[in-house]
Amino acid sequence: MKTNLPVLLLRNVILFPCSEIRIEFETFEEKQLLSLAEAYYQGHILLVLPKDPLEVDPDILELPKMGVIGQIKMKMDMPNGKTRVIIKGETRAIVETFTKEDDLFEATLKSVTEDAIDVNKEKAYVRTLLRELDNYIKEVPYASNSGLSSLRGVDSIYELTDLIALSLPGNLSRKKEYIEEVNPFRRAEMLLDDMHHDVEILKLEQDLDKRLSKELDDQQKEFVLREKIRLIKQELGDINDKDSEVEELRKKIQNLKCNDKVKKRLFVELSKYETMNPNSPEMGMIKNYIDWFLDLPWNNFTVDCTNLQEVKNSLDETHYGLEVVKTRILEYLAVKQHTNNLKSPILCLVGPPGVGKTTLAKSIAKSLHRKSTKISVGGVNDEAEIVGHRRTYVGAAPGLIIQGMKKAGTSNPVFIIDEIDKMRKDIKGDPASALLEVLDPEQNKNFVDHYIEEEYDLSQVLFITTANYLDQIPEALRDRLEIVELSSYTEYEKQDIALNHLIPNELKEHGLTENEVKIDSKVILTIIRNYTKEAGVRELERLLASILRKMVMEKVSSKKKNFVLTNRNLENYLGKKKFIYNESDTKGSIGVVNGLAYTIYGGDLLPIEATLFKGKGNLILTGSLGDVMKESAMLSFSYIKSHADEFHIPYRKIVENEIHIHVPEGAIPKDGPSAGVTLTTTLISLFTNTNKYQSRYDWGNDFTW
Ligand code: ADP
Repeated sequence: MKTNLPVLLLRNVILFPCSEIRIEFETFEEKQLLSLAEAYYQGHILLVLPKDPLEVDPDILELPKMGVIGQIKMKMDMPNGKTRVIIKGETRAIVETFTKEDDLFEATLKSVTEDAIDVNKEKAYVRTLLRELDNYIKEVPYASNSGLSSLRGVDSIYELTDLIALSLPGNLSRKKEYIEEVNPFRRAEMLLDDMHHDVEILKLEQDLDKRLSKELDDQQKEFVLREKIRLIKQELGDINDKDSEVEELRKKIQNLKCNDKVKKRLFVELSKYETMNPNSPEMGMIKNYIDWFLDLPWNNFTVDCTNLQEVKNSLDETHYGLEVVKTRILEYLAVKQHTNNLKSPILCLVGPPGVGKTTLAKSIAKSLHRKSTKISVGGVNDEAEIVGHRRTYVGAAPGLIIQGMKKAGTSNPVFIIDEIDKMRKDIKGDPASALLEVLDPEQNKNFVDHYIEEEYDLSQVLFITTANYLDQIPEALRDRLEIVELSSYTEYEKQDIALNHLIPNELKEHGLTENEVKIDSKVILTIIRNYTKEAGVRELERLLASILRKMVMEKVSSKKKNFVLTNRNLENYLGKKKFIYNESDTKGSIGVVNGLAYTIYGGDLLPIEATLFKGKGNLILTGSLGDVMKESAMLSFSYIKSHADEFHIPYRKIVENEIHIHVPEGAIPKDGPSAGVTLTTTLISLFTNTNKYQSRYDWGNDFTW
């Protein structure tokens, strides 16, 4: 069947069979077309969508060969001169030719032959389409409003495909493709494809949105959410301990005088802490970490005393002598005032125990009006003890340096590091090298503790280290230190210290006055000689304290008021004498020579004794002598043998006797090369029966000669 119909070129709409469109006719040609359709074609028109809908005068050859036949359902003239028409789409039609006359297009049509379709196939396609449609409506938010859901009752594949194609969002050219596809099954497949594609794209979009908004707004979102939570909780009266704690921490961090980098890090840690599950073990660790920062002094300085005389008086008040150290501190202060920016010296006070190293360092702090803090590194064999454990360790904590700074509470304390000669190096690392970093003025501005992980400025700290033995301080460390050696005190220095410092201090400690207790200076000397054996005055101080304790007991129990300590009543307080003073010094016996020994107690006088008896010229050595000392004795013996004539010693006296050398006290090991002269003179005295020779020798470490 062939027929002719007037053609309406559509612009921005498209008509599907089974649907309606509303068009307003405005121009003369359009209205003429309308009249023509009504007059000759029972209101039928062919509606086609040109390739370029905006083209006013399209080329007749380029018009599409497929259109939809529509019928005018309603026509209404509007007051503005336009005519509103509703056209219902009926069926597709193939255009054989287009003609144009007086600006009106006309088409010769061929109807589309519709093959008989398989009912089951149709059912299956309809069902699939409807299922996919449901899914589509669910997934695509704007689809539910498009009327798609009303299509569920449609069971003709022709109708269903056209209605879905009409309602799916999509551009006109895709819709035109649906019009041009006459096979309903192929249309159905196209629809399934499109719906599927839409859902996929949408999912991708949502994903992208999520990621983008997360990246962009993370911080802002967090802030807003936090604020919301806080307000809600406040409203509910539900602000708990943790919230107020977090608020307090936030304020404290804000007020911390640290640099911005540290502050930023603390805020990050705080937000971790805030959002953390209260049962998480990590929570305590984070809190601990933040607390360390809050407890550490940041740019919190005390002002040094600038009055040199005042500093000197203060040092003299607490310590007798020790002029070298005192002068060094005064020089430091003077130069600092002069230049205004001086790196602190790093002093190392080396000397035997009890000579006042630690207490002097403390009184330096006091005299400078600085805080003091003390750590002891004796026995430390792990680097981490100095610079802390990494936070990943269980029970990690900062090292001794940061702990010391926390104790000090200011950024420029006097930092006393005790016993730096007693650190040990082993597999856990070398603590001395860690200490190097701390004590190096070039590096310690940016000291980093492994736990704290942020730079901490130690450059304003006045480090004072102490050691007993200079040669046991690790070489590299010794290089960085300004060594001040404090030697042991003489008896008379000790006496002065006791009279001027120890006794007044102890009296005060025990609530006694100088009027109540009289201590004779001679008795102090007795205590020093017969009750102590030390380089410093620590034992002396302890004994004085014990005497005063006993006096306080007497005062309390028998109401005795005045005490006088003399050599006669000393034993009542301290018991029997412990050391016999200088006895060996006075006799001048033959075959006994006194030498001087250096021990950790300071100096001592010790005799070397020799005797002989009939034998074959063998040398017997006793008194726990070390190898070097034994060799020394043998050398002396050989020397005397070879120079016997010069010393007027009958050679027979040497070879016909056994010679026994003994060095008391027998149980104390002794060693060292420096006793040669004493040994030689002992033997000469023995062989020549004289007591004129005296010798000086000194001991090395502990009981070393
Ligand atoms: P070190 O650190 O050298 O082992 P300390 O500083 O602990 O010794 O001193 C031990 C005791 O001896 C302290 O009570 C200290 O007051 C006292 N002392 C040591 N030397 C002096 C001194 N020169 N003047 C006053 N007291 C001293």
